[in-house]
Amino acid sequence: MSRVYCALVHHPVRDREGATVTASVTNIDIHDIARSSHTFGLCGMFVVTPIDAQRALVVQILEHWRVGGGKRRMPHRSEALAMCQPSSSIQEAVQLITAREGRAPRLIATAARALPNKALSSYSSASTLLAQADPVPSLLLFGTGHGLAESVLSDADLLLEPIHGVSDYNHLSVRAAAAIVFDRLFGRADRS
Ligand code: SAM
Repeated sequence: MSRVYCALVHHPVRDREGATVTASVTNIDIHDIARSSHTFGLCGMFVVTPIDAQRALVVQILEHWRVGGGKRRMPHRSEALAMCQPSSSIQEAVQLITAREGRAPRLIATAARALPNKALSSYSSASTLLAQADPVPSLLLFGTGHGLAESVLSDADLLLEPIHGVSDYNHLSVRAAAAIVFDRLFGRADRS
């Protein structure tokens, strides 16, 4: 299996008008996606924000759960958060993964909507790709706000097809979307 990381991206993301903005870090996003990442065997999770004060908040949250009171009270949660780290940008996360893995990661983006002129990858094809013993690591990108900026989607090596429900209503939280994406890529429904 390819070594897979994920990034919770707070910049560049879109606002409701489509402008590129920086979204605020949300504690529950970090906790939930770290737990899902650990459950599905990811190698690490990056919390991406260019704002120094926000990265300091991320460090504070992680320390509480890694070595503070949180670790004593909820060791399982501590284990999941131990795989998290802040980064100032997607590029910095790529550099950190490259330094750790010896190869730059392929970027796999996600979005609730398709991007004109960008091919979509199915979950089955992406799952098959990631299941191969491959020295190239992968970085799954999840946005916040109103989604990843179009530049991130268009520059990604793969753009996963949107998760579709049963109607045009499509407003999953990033926490829910990440869990569904992980299960489609790595989950084993047949495992008793
Ligand atoms: N409308 C936004 C969009 O177009 O991506 C959804 C924003 S949602 C709060 C933030 C993130 O959750 C998205 O950037 C994407 O990573 C993920 N996400 C949300 N809905 C999704 C879907 N239907 N399919 C795939 N990913 C989704």
